[in-house]
Amino acid sequence: MPTPDNPFLALTAPGLSGLHPYVPGKPISELERELGIRDSIKLASNENPLGPGPKARAAVAAAMPDLGRYPDGGGFKLRRALAERHSLDPAAITLGNGSNDVLDLVARTFLRPGAESVFSEHAFAVYPIATQAVGATARIAPARDYGHDLDAMGALVNRHARVVWIANPNNPTGTWLPAAPLRAFLASLPATCIAVVDEAYSEYVQAPDYPDTSTWLDAFPNLIVTRTFSKVHGLAALRIGYGISDPRIAELLNRVRQPFNVNTPAQLAALAALGDADHVRDSVTLNDAGLAQLAAGFDHLGLSYIPSVGNFITVDLGRPAGPVDRDLLRAGCIARRLANYGLPSHLRVSVGLAAENARFLAALASVLGK
Ligand SMILES: *Cc1c(COP(=O)(O)O)cnc(C)c1O
Repeated sequence: MPTPDNPFLALTAPGLSGLHPYVPGKPISELERELGIRDSIKLASNENPLGPGPKARAAVAAAMPDLGRYPDGGGFKLRRALAERHSLDPAAITLGNGSNDVLDLVARTFLRPGAESVFSEHAFAVYPIATQAVGATARIAPARDYGHDLDAMGALVNRHARVVWIANPNNPTGTWLPAAPLRAFLASLPATCIAVVDEAYSEYVQAPDYPDTSTWLDAFPNLIVTRTFSKVHGLAALRIGYGISDPRIAELLNRVRQPFNVNTPAQLAALAALGDADHVRDSVTLNDAGLAQLAAGFDHLGLSYIPSVGNFITVDLGRPAGPVDRDLLRAGCIARRLANYGLPSHLRVSVGLAAENARFLAALASVLGK
C-alpha cells in the first residue's frame, strides 16, 4: 500500500505519487482463507468459465520437457500463425506478457513527462496506470451513456497528445463503438498521436457493424490494435496477448520489450488455441446464454444494467456497492466493485457457468432483501 510519508516517493517518476496499485479480483483461495468458507465462485476478472480448450491444455502438458530452456524470444511460430490469421506480415505482430504488457510497451515507447495520453471516463484501469508510471499526463474525456464519447476525446487531442486509448468493447462498461464513427475518429487524429484500439473482447462481439480494426492498418499507420488470449481463449494465467501495428511501430515496441517476455507454455498454448475454433464457438455460445440469464435476473430484481457485448455485465445497484459486495463475498460470491472506475453504485459481474450465474443472482437477491 502506498504510504504518504514514504521517503522513496521523492525519487520516483513524477506520476507515481498519484498512482495506486491495480486492484485485481480477489482470488478464491484468499477469500476462503479470510472467511473460512468453501465452494466460492469468482465472477470478478472476466475469465472464461470453461478455461482453456482441449488443444491448449494438451499443448501446455507437452511443453514440460522444454521448461529448462529460455523461450523463443522472437515467438517465431506464434507470430507467423497470428500474421496468417490477420493476413499481415509477422513483423506487424508484437507479443506481450498479456496484452497489458503491450499497453505498457506503448506507454514506455511513446509517452514521457510533458506528453499526454487521452482516454475515456470509466475506461480500462491500465491506461491511467501506464500513463502515470512514465510521468506522462492523463487527459480524461467524460463518458456518454457510459461509453466512449469520441467527440469529447477528440477535443482533448492537442499537440502534446502522443497516445489515445480506446477499448472496444470497453471494460468495465461493456459498451462498444461501431465501425463508422471509430474510423472517422482515427482519420481525425494528427500523425503525431498513436491510437491504441484494445480489442480484448472482440471474439465475443457479434454486432455486424463491430469493426476488426486490424484490417485498417493500411489506412492508419499510427494505429496499434491489441488482442489477448486471456479472455475467450481461457489462458489468463499464462499471460499472453499481442499488438498489431505498422512494422515500424512494432520495431520500436520491440526495442523496449523484455527479451523473453512470453513463456514457452504460453506460446504453445496460444498457437494451439488459434486452431481450436470449436472452443471459441462453445465459449461464445455459453457467454451469450449467460449474458441473457444475468440480464433477465437483474430485470427480475428491478435493477438496471449497462447492455454489454463482452463476457461481463455491469449492474446498477442503486445504492453504494461496497456493502452489497461485502455481503456477497460472505455468501461466497466474488464480483467486482467499480468505485475506482467512477461507478460507486455499480458492480461488474463476469459471465460464469449457468449454475454460477444462478447462484450469484440468488445471493444478490438475498443480500438486497428481495
Ligand atoms: C482483460 C483486458 C485486457 C487483457 O489483459 P491481458 O493482459 O491480456 O490479460 C486488456 N484490455 C482490457 C480492456 C481488458 O479488459
